[in-house]
Amino acid sequence: MSGSYAKNDLVTLKITDMGNDGEGIGKVDGYTLFVKDAVIGDTVLAKVMKAKKNYGYARLMEVVEKSPYRVEPPCPYARQCGGCQLQAMSYEEQLRFKTNKVKNHLMRIGGLEEVPMEPIIGLEYPYRYRNKAQFPVGRNKEGKIITGFYAGHTHSIIENRNCLLGVELNEQILDKVIAYMEENHVEPYDEKTGKGLVRHVLTRYGFDSGEVMVCLIINGNKIPNADSFTESLRQIPGMTSITLNINKERTNVILGDQIKLLWGQTYITDSIGTIKYQISPLSFYQVNPAQTRRMYEKALEYAQLTGEETVWDLYCGIGTISLFLAQKAKQVYGVEIIPQAIEDARRNAALNHLKNVEFFVGKAEEVLPEKYEKEGVYADVIVVDPPRKGCDETLLDTIVKMSPKRVVYVSCDSSTLARDVKYLGEHGYQVERVCPIDNFSQTVHVETVCLLSNRKADSYIKLSLDMDEYYDIIEKEQAEKK
Ligand code: SAH
Repeated sequence: MSGSYAKNDLVTLKITDMGNDGEGIGKVDGYTLFVKDAVIGDTVLAKVMKAKKNYGYARLMEVVEKSPYRVEPPCPYARQCGGCQLQAMSYEEQLRFKTNKVKNHLMRIGGLEEVPMEPIIGLEYPYRYRNKAQFPVGRNKEGKIITGFYAGHTHSIIENRNCLLGVELNEQILDKVIAYMEENHVEPYDEKTGKGLVRHVLTRYGFDSGEVMVCLIINGNKIPNADSFTESLRQIPGMTSITLNINKERTNVILGDQIKLLWGQTYITDSIGTIKYQISPLSFYQVNPAQTRRMYEKALEYAQLTGEETVWDLYCGIGTISLFLAQKAKQVYGVEIIPQAIEDARRNAALNHLKNVEFFVGKAEEVLPEKYEKEGVYADVIVVDPPRKGCDETLLDTIVKMSPKRVVYVSCDSSTLARDVKYLGEHGYQVERVCPIDNFSQTVHVETVCLLSNRKADSYIKLSLDMDEYYDIIEKEQAEKK
């Protein structure tokens, strides 16, 4: 019998599947229930919160029988915070969940019968991987100044200075910020009234360089007794950049446009592989640099560059992938919509003495078609790394017209990857390899690098899964050319 459940009903059910947002899914009498915080394999007691005809949403009341994949979340706030949707699941199972998610999307949405999956690239230690953190500052019920995180989708702050995804140093920094505020009677910002000074604390840490950045986001132009603030923070080893960010708007957006230097310099430097990047408080930079390096190495492997290729890197951000590719390509062109990111990209190219890369500001779906129609630009390889919504069809259409030998698709959302792969598949591009990468352990997010090759291209070589064999062929071909 289906549809027989109503709000507040208590149900015992076995969780047999996981949804894309990490929610447990189970069935009772053919009726599907989504249970947040339940893990595949659990038998749970759940309370129906919302009942539709064929399915409903329920709240986890009690785990009756633990799944073999269930672990004790190391963070006491895991459930309240909601940032780590998978912390109650063993890391091995998280990786399996993510692999299946990518594979299922490519089959169901992408229409692939078989997916040439490579093993997911996971972390050795799936915590403390984030190089950036933003903590809201406020007061608790007792009036004490606190920092932490917003509970669920609310704007009430739960005190926690030690998020396990961030670096341990964050706690020291936050202690010093709060001590400074208390000593100098500096008010935290209050969203309801729009009054108060300190809104957020932004920290960044260069995993490679050891450089530390602290940026205080304020609802004003200056802070009182700034010297005591910088003096205290400078005691932290690696401190390189202490700045203010001015945000006087009544908005949820964390950062304003203006940066004021308090001490040191306005940026820190960090490396991914052999490439150096300068990062300011406003720059976009990948939050998990170790996995990002692996992701870019995978993109580079798929691009199969010999030094002769012209490569386009679309959605290039601060040029991170472009510079990686430029080490092995003849010429790289990057396209990105945000002008400041392109400024960073150009500076980073100079910093690394890479001269074979050029950047354009604009929408990828406008810049590339225009360059192609007007100037007849060419590409051997096109790399795309779009935001979650994926690529615009105009862009995919131009890619097909340009007919590069290979397309390397770096994706942060496998459902839009699958949609775009389907389009490219209908226009002559075949999926050769797919590699998921876990950049965001404990969360449901997964990155994917996907290689597509042009079925029509003369130089198309069927890739066996053994790269050594492939490189042998390339080397032989090059020897013959000479
Ligand atoms: N490849 C970069 C950034 C990827 S994030 C890296 O690895 O660091 C996606 C980027 O696409 C963002 O920088 C965003 O600003 C940019 N973007 C979003 N829509 C775009 C569009 N229509 N055209 C070009 N860039 C776009």
